Formats: sequence, structure tokens, C-alpha cells
Amino acid sequence: MTASNTALDQTHSEFAKSWVLSANQPGCDFPIQNLPFSVFRRKGSQEAFRGGVAIGDQVIDLAQVAQSGCLDGLAGTAAAACAQPALNDFFALGLAAWKALRHGLFELLEKAFYGAKVDALRACLIAQSDVEFTVPARIGDYTDFYTSLDHAMNIGVMMRPDDPITSNFKWMPIAYHGRVSSIGVSGQKFRRPMGQAMLPGVNVPVYGPCARLDYELELGIYIGKGNAQGSPIPLENAEQHIFGMCLLNDWSARDIQFWEMAPLGPFLGKNFCTTISPWIVTMDALAPYRLPWNRPATEPQPLDYLEDASNRARGAIDISLEVCLESDKLRTEGKGPSRLSGTSFKHQYWSIAQMVAHHTMGGCNLQPGDLLGSGTISGPGAGQAGALIELAYGGTKPVSLSNGEPRGFLQDGDAVVLRGWCEKPGFARIGFGESRGEILPAIGA
Ligand code: MN
Repeated sequence: MTASNTALDQTHSEFAKSWVLSANQPGCDFPIQNLPFSVFRRKGSQEAFRGGVAIGDQVIDLAQVAQSGCLDGLAGTAAAACAQPALNDFFALGLAAWKALRHGLFELLEKAFYGAKVDALRACLIAQSDVEFTVPARIGDYTDFYTSLDHAMNIGVMMRPDDPITSNFKWMPIAYHGRVSSIGVSGQKFRRPMGQAMLPGVNVPVYGPCARLDYELELGIYIGKGNAQGSPIPLENAEQHIFGMCLLNDWSARDIQFWEMAPLGPFLGKNFCTTISPWIVTMDALAPYRLPWNRPATEPQPLDYLEDASNRARGAIDISLEVCLESDKLRTEGKGPSRLSGTSFKHQYWSIAQMVAHHTMGGCNLQPGDLLGSGTISGPGAGQAGALIELAYGGTKPVSLSNGEPRGFLQDGDAVVLRGWCEKPGFARIGFGESRGEILPAIGA
């Protein structure tokens, strides 16, 4: 059997603790079972960015780990690949190297382990409060999918009341090729885009600041090892090509988007900004939270290339997700962000393995560091929608923030914060940290 990043081992034990005591605090996003990756440097410094792994409230500086000699063999090779300002070379090393580094760090971080190598690792820790992050990979290509049936239905009834779900949706994971240059990490601020929109009841578009600015709650999927052009990744191998996942906010200008997207798809409505969390949670860390992927008998069954026993057995992932909004007024009043909605990734109609298999079916080559967006993640219940346009019914029924402020669409000064975590009895809770982005007044304003 080939190596797997969905299997459980000692690094998933709920009883494992670290000598980094903050990692053992209940509710901590980064216990020893998580070990997510980022690229960072000391805040405000001119240091070179390099790879890091989170443990508790600390970052392990992997460039320093590589020099310290506290890891050897494949784990040492993997740490050396992480010393660069982007993790692409580390991704390209593949599953065995990712696992070796996870296990090497886990062993040194475990509470029961003492010795010179632990002392060397301790010298590689930097407080997370003292660092700044950057996009953790040179993202060559970014593809955004559309794989939540509940989101598609919520949006579809607004755009095409007679035919809300297009006939292709249930047969393939739909996507468009997105823009890489405007992807930034949490903390990103951006100006409200200008653009064209066609208002109801007229036949000449208007030009001006976006009036229907929105967020989209998504997960990002980082490609680890790529495939050669002309050599599709079969579904049964797809998980081995995925390194890990992050939070992703696909900011959307709905007025611009809805006017421009027929017949070729989103363009300026989506390309002005995308905000990701700095931390990448590995598929290895997510292994305990896998669930069967189901397609009820009443629904169309997948074509052969999207059907596989391992996808059926554990293709889904139970990742809890939450969207909060912090308005200018909430900030001024010293109140925290107001919660808008929450859901789980387990409801998604297509799995991440099916996205990868479908993406490459025609011969398209994915490369290490490529990023896939899951598409907006909306659950089936009320208050589970992953975009404001759904929660506020196209702006017609504004939602109320915790201080009573109404929101139909986003206003200048609004910050949107995405959070994600996994919990399951018998396992540690792990988290994604957050993705936060803030809207500045329109370009030219
Ligand atoms: Mn999207």
C-alpha cells in the first residue's frame, strides 16, 4: 500500500502533550497534533521570509531548525526545503517528506522527550505575536470551484428563479480560473473596487464604486506534488497530491460580477482581492476528521472518473467554519466582531479529491503551490450561508450585527474574519487560526 495522509498514527493521539505549555491549553488552535505551516519573519524586520510551524503561541523557525541539526534524514531535508521564502520546493518533495518532518517535530515537541536536540529546538521558537506572515507559496495558478449545493441553490434562485441549479452542477465540480496577484494573507486591506453594473429596469450600465460588496467563506487547497501535462491524476491518487488547507475569503463585487459573468464567467467582480489565512493545516493533521462522502441514491451518481471506494469511505472532512464581521462602529465601541454564520465543510457536494481529479482530467498539469478554492461553503440550515448575499437575501433583508447595525452588503471599514477548527470526541481540537480582511474606501474616493 502506498503512503497515505488520511491514516491515523501516534501524532493524532489525544493524550500527546508538548513542553510548549501554551499548546496544551484547551481551545488552542495549535496543539502538538496540528503543526500547520506558514511563511514568516520578525515583525517590521528586513529578515528573509522562511517557513515556520505553529506550536501553541510560538512559531518554530524551520530555517533555524535546518541549521541546528536537530532533525536528520528525510526530516532534515524537508526542514531545509522550508528555509526558503516559499514552500514550493517542500511541497514538491511529496508525502514521505511531509510526514517525516511532521513526525520529527512531533517527537522533539512531545512532553516526554528530553535532550540536546530538544534544547536546540527550543532555541528555534519565536512568539507568534512577534512575527508577520506572507503568502506561503509562489502560487502559480489559482482555481476557484463552486461545490456547495446549498450555496448554488441560494444564489441560483436570485439569478435564475426558474432554473436555480444549472444542469452541469450535479455532474462535475464547476470552477473558473482566478487571479493570483491579488491574493494576500490575513490582515490584508483593500480598496472597494470600481466597476460597471447594470441596474434593474434600465439598459445602460453605470460606472462607480461597487455597491454590492460581499465575502465568500471558502477553504483553500494547496497542491503538494504536481502532475505532468497530459497525465491526469486519478481520483484514487488525488489525496496524495494535496498538501493541506487554509481559510480563504473570495471577496466578491456582486453588482459587477452579475453583469459581467455571462457568458464567460467572473472577472473584475472577483480579481481585486482574495484573503487567505497564513497557516496551512496539513491533510495529515486533518486525518481524524474525515467522514464518508455520500451521494444520496436520489441524486445523479458520479461518472466513473469521479467515483472511488476511498473517496466514498473518507472523502468528506468535518471542518467547522465561522464568519464574523467587525464594523467601524463595533471597533470604535470596543466591541468584538459580530458572528454572522457558521457551518461545516462536511456538507460540500463534491470532495477535494474529486476537484483535483476533475481539474486534471483533460491533461491540465497542476504544480506544487497551486491553490484551489473550494467555492463558497454554505450549509443546509438557516444561518449557515457562507456569503452575505445569501444571509441578507440579495440585500433585501439586511442582517443585524450585535450592536443593531444593519448589513445588506459590506460597508467601508468593515473587517470580515473567517475561522475554522476541527473537533471530535477522542481527538484533540485543532484550528486554522483566522483570515481577516478589511475594506477601505473606493479607489479614487
Ligand atoms: Mn468563490
